[in-house]
Formats: sequence, C-alpha cells, structure tokens
Amino acid sequence: MTDLNDPVVRGYLIQLMGEEGLEMIEKMPAEGEVTDEQIAEATGVMLNIVRRTLFIMNENKLAICRRERDSSSGWLTYLWQLDLSDIESHLAKEKKKLFKNLQLRLESEEDNVFYTCPEGCVRFQFNDASECEFLCPACGEDLMFEDNSPMVEKLTKRLDELKTNNS
Ligand SMILES: [Zn+2]
Repeated sequence: MTDLNDPVVRGYLIQLMGEEGLEMIEKMPAEGEVTDEQIAEATGVMLNIVRRTLFIMNENKLAICRRERDSSSGWLTYLWQLDLSDIESHLAKEKKKLFKNLQLRLESEEDNVFYTCPEGCVRFQFNDASECEFLCPACGEDLMFEDNSPMVEKLTKRLDELKTNNS
C-alpha cells in the first residue's frame, strides 16, 4: 500500500499534478470505480481540475480508466480507479534521473572554472567569460573568479544522501 504521507511520494505527486491534484487523490475512494463527477462531488475539487488530474494520472499510469456504454441511452461513461501500485517504480526511476543529473552537474563543477558577476547577473565558464573579456554583458561589472568548492561540497553531500537512501 502506498503511503500518501511519505514526503517523497507527496513531492512527486505535487510536481506531477499540483497541490489540488494531490488533495483530490487523498479524498478519492481508494477502491472501486467512480466517475469524474462523483470524484468532484466527493472531494470538493472543481470538475475541470478533477478531469485534468485524471488525465495526467492516466498518462502516468497512476489511474485506470474504463469506458462503459449505457445500453439504453447510448451515453459513454468513463469510470476511474486509482492505481498507485506502480508508484514505487516511478519513484525509483525519478531518483535515478535525479542522481544522474546531480552527478553530471558535479562533474561540470569539478572540471570547469567559473566566473560570476558580483551583481549576480551571470555565471560563466572560463571560455565564455574570456569571450566577454571578463566583463558582465548585462551590467558591465568585472567578472570575478568564483571559488566553487562550496557548490562541489553541496552536490557531493546531496549525492551521498541519495546513495544512502537507495541502499
Ligand atoms: Zn552584471
């Protein structure tokens, strides 16, 4: 059973469909099929947001949708069911992606020298900085060599944390 109180799970769902989407999931019946209108009624979330959230969930395989045609009226009804069973593997994938991005970022920080504008306009690698003759293209200030060891340290620490959480 997926724990919706887990901050990692919450963060992932909020990133995917916003606070209102998460709120809808929390109030939605965890079992059985429901229509979008029933969800809106049960959760108090506006119907257009319910529909948008269901669409995103379906795209990400977090909900199952089944169509049913009423034999007398011919109307199609869309029946929805939460399916958070795959969320752990989604999260594992997200974590892997994040880890890889951080690693690339760390490599770039370690392999390059950076120059920044004291006013905070730009941050350049050596080549770009030298192309602008070490002057900020936005405000004209002298670009300053940046000691990026705090950044390297921060990234290394973040990667270590992720590694420990994965084991
Ligand atoms: Zn500047």
